[in-house]
Amino acid sequence: MLNPDFPFSYDHYLAHPAGLGSVPAAAYGTEVAVIGAGLSGLVAAYELMKMGLKPVLFEADQLGGRLRTATFAGAPDVTADLGGMRFPVSGRAFYHYVDLLGLSTEAFPNPLADATSSTVIELAGERHYAATGAELPEFFREVAAAWKDAVNDGAAFAQMQDAIRARDTKRIKELWNALVPELDEETFYGFIAGSAAFRKAGFGHREAFGQVGFGTGGWDTDFPNSILEILRVVYTDADDGHRSIVGGAQRLPETLWRDAPSGMEFWPEGTSLSSLHAGSPRGAVAKIVRADDGSIEITERWGRVRRFAAVVSSCQSWLLSTRINTEESLFAAPMWTAIERSHYMQSSKTFVMVDRPFWKDIDPATGRETMSMTLTDRLNRATYLLDNGPDKPAVILLSYTWNDDALKWLALSAEERVELMLHSLAQIYPGVDIASHIVGAPITVSWEADPNFMGAFKANLPGHYRYQQRLFTHFDQDGLPDSQRGIFLAGDDVSWTAGWADGAVTTALNAVWGVVRHLGGLSAPGNPGPGELLSEYGPISLD
Ligand code: FAD
Repeated sequence: MLNPDFPFSYDHYLAHPAGLGSVPAAAYGTEVAVIGAGLSGLVAAYELMKMGLKPVLFEADQLGGRLRTATFAGAPDVTADLGGMRFPVSGRAFYHYVDLLGLSTEAFPNPLADATSSTVIELAGERHYAATGAELPEFFREVAAAWKDAVNDGAAFAQMQDAIRARDTKRIKELWNALVPELDEETFYGFIAGSAAFRKAGFGHREAFGQVGFGTGGWDTDFPNSILEILRVVYTDADDGHRSIVGGAQRLPETLWRDAPSGMEFWPEGTSLSSLHAGSPRGAVAKIVRADDGSIEITERWGRVRRFAAVVSSCQSWLLSTRINTEESLFAAPMWTAIERSHYMQSSKTFVMVDRPFWKDIDPATGRETMSMTLTDRLNRATYLLDNGPDKPAVILLSYTWNDDALKWLALSAEERVELMLHSLAQIYPGVDIASHIVGAPITVSWEADPNFMGAFKANLPGHYRYQQRLFTHFDQDGLPDSQRGIFLAGDDVSWTAGWADGAVTTALNAVWGVVRHLGGLSAPGNPGPGELLSEYGPISLD
C-alpha cells in the first residue's frame, strides 16, 4: 500500500537492521501517554518500549479497538470479526507485525475469489450464479471494462500501478501531484458518470457497478466520497488479495500487548506492554491540557491525573472534540477544522452461527451449491459464508453494509435485523431453510452507535484533501509553537487510507518518529524515518 500521497516504504523502514531510532539514555524510562489501545496505539507503544521509553496506554473499552473479534456464546472457538476482517497482502507494514508475531492467515472468501467456491449476484430480482468471473454474463464484463477504462483515462491507473510496483517515488509523485488538484473536488459518482466509458455504456452499467463494484463488492455507498479516496484503494490493491487472521483479527493487538521482544533498550528481557502495565491499560481519558511546567496533563475518567513528556492520541481524532475535553490551544485552529470536518462512514455487520457449512451441499436439481457468497441490491447487500471445516459450526455474515445502508439497520435489534435479512435471502434462495441451521444468538454491531468510535472509519468528502494533509503531516512539529508541540496523532483516520489497518500502523510509526524527535532522539543511521522524507515526497499543498 505504497500510498501516492506519501510513498514512503514503511515496510523497508521496519525491516532495516539498524531499527527505527533511539532516544538519549537520559530519556530512558520516560513515560509517554498513548491514548487508545487499538492497533495504532499498540504499535506506537510497542516501538516506544523497544527504544527504552515507557508507554502508558489508556483504553476506554477493549484492547484492540476496531480489530474486535466476538465469540459466540457456548462456542468460544467460533469467531466473528466485527471491525477489520480481511487484510490486503499489499499492506506490508501491517503484515510486518503479523509475521513478526507468528500469526497465521488464510485467504478471505470475497466475491469470485479463489477461496470462494461460488458467488451469486442478484440484481433487480435477477440471479446469476458463478464459480468464477468468466461464468458471469457478458454484461458484467462490460461493467468491469468500463471501470478499467474510466480509471485509465481519468486517473492514469495503469501507469500509477506500474510506478507503485517499481517503488518509483518520483514517477508516483509526478502522476499524483497532477491529479490531486484536478480531482479533489470530484465525487466518486461524478467521476464515474462523467467518464467517457460509463457515459457510453449507459446508466444500467453505472448502476450495476455501484452494486457489484470491484474487489470486495458494491461501492455505491461510497459514491458521495472524494474520488481520491477510491483511487488510493485501487492503485494500491487494497481491495484485492485479502487474508484474514486465523482465530480472529483481535489476535494481532492482543499478541502485540503480550509480546516480549528481545534486545530492547533499557528494559530487561521478558518485558512486554502487558508487564509494564501490570496486566491492564489505564482507563478512558477524559481531559488533556498543557501543564504549567510545559508537559501534557491527562485526566482519566475516574479522576486520576498524570503529566507526560509526550502524548500519542490514537482514538478516532474526532473524539478529541466530542468525548475528550481537549484544551483548545494544543492545536492550531486549522487543525481543529480538520478534526471537526472529519467524515466518518457508518457500518453494520450481523453474524449468525450455523450448525455446519450446509451451503456446500449440492442441490441435485441444479448441480450447484445450495447457497453462495451473495451480492445483492436488497438491504443485506453482501452475505459472506465463513467456513471452519466440514461438520463444524460455521458462521454467516448475513449482511455487511456502509453508510445509508448501515443506517437502515441502526434502529433495529439483532433479532429484527436477522429476520429481515433472512427474508431477503429467502427471495434469493427459495427453498433453503437457513433459519433451521442457526444456533445460538446472533451478533450485530453498528459502529456509529458506540461512543468510543462514533463511526466506523473515515472517508474524505470532496474538498477534504487540505484537512487530511494537515492531520497527516502534523507529526512533523518543527514549525509549530511550543504550545502545540508534544501531542501526536495516530490512527487510520489520520492516514491516507482510513478504513485499512495498514493506515493505523503507518501513522503509529509517524507518531513514534515525532515522539523520538521531541525527546531529543534520532532516526537510526542509514534508515531515515518518515519525518526526514516528508518534505521530499510528502503530500503537496493546495492553495
Ligand atoms: P481504533 O481501533 O479505533 O483504536 C482506538 C482506541 O481508542 C479504541 O480501542 C477506543 O476504544 C479507544 N478510545 C476511544 N476513546 C478513548 C478515550 N477517551 N480514552 C482512551 N481510549 C479511548 N481494515 C482493514 O485493513 N481491513 C478490513 O477489512 C477492515 N474492515 C473494517 C470494517 C469495519 C466495520 C471497521 C469499523 C473497520 C474496518 N477496518 C478494516 C479498519 C480497521 O479496523 C482500522 O483501520 C483499525 O482497526 C484502526 O485502528 P486504530 O488504532 O487506528 O483505531
